Amino acid sequence: MELAVEARALGKRYGRAWALRDCALELPAGRIAALVGPNGAGKTTLLHLAVGLSRPDAGEVRVFGRDPRSVLADIGFVAQDTPLYRDFTAAELITMGGKLNRRRWDTALARERLARLGIPPDKPVGKLSGGQRAQVALALALAKRPRLLLLDEPIASLDPLARREFMQALMGAVADSETTVLLSSHLLADLERTCDYLVVLQASRVRLTGAVEELLDAHRTLVGPRAGS
Ligand code: ATP
Repeated sequence: MELAVEARALGKRYGRAWALRDCALELPAGRIAALVGPNGAGKTTLLHLAVGLSRPDAGEVRVFGRDPRSVLADIGFVAQDTPLYRDFTAAELITMGGKLNRRRWDTALARERLARLGIPPDKPVGKLSGGQRAQVALALALAKRPRLLLLDEPIASLDPLARREFMQALMGAVADSETTVLLSSHLLADLERTCDYLVVLQASRVRLTGAVEELLDAHRTLVGPRAGS
């Protein structure tokens, strides 16, 4: 079984406080995984380590068996609050992305995706709604045709309709593909119907990890049905 993300004794600290501690994780390739935990649990820290944006202070993390920084071309990342260049249009961002990621960038796919959603390509991204901006960030991450797609609380600040539309777009995009997805949320309820793998973080530690069907009941027993809400 190929592992998309593998962490061993992984730790990260800020000053003297550990944001993530002794994290063990084996995420099989092809899974749609939810990374769930209350605010401050360490979700962003784990995702940043997996995408190579920060370095571990203990242990190691591997993506497809390698250091994340050596497989950056294979990783798509949607950061929390989608910090896009707000003065640029979606069309411009797609073109810029193509220049940065020549190898596999699919400009046509990204344009089509946004057109299907009715997102104006020539309006500055800063003038779009939060839901539309999130869709632009997703389209840009998918244009890279990543083998691993990491998303940090992409729906946390969206209204219920935009949340649904985002999850539909994400699931539609990765259905029948081999892309592995790891998507964080502080609400399990947002993801339990769409994800087939679960990683539960609480107080800087991995509390549960495994296939959803096996773990959902255990998670409910541990932290309640609406953890973090
Ligand atoms: P949220 O849902 O609020 O984004 P999270 O689960 O993503 O939470 P992290 O952002 O990974 O959690 O934070 C884990 C812990 O590390 C928190 O206690 C946070 O305050 C701390 N932390 C994160 N980044 C830094 C930093 N740059 N400097 C100092 N402490 C930090």
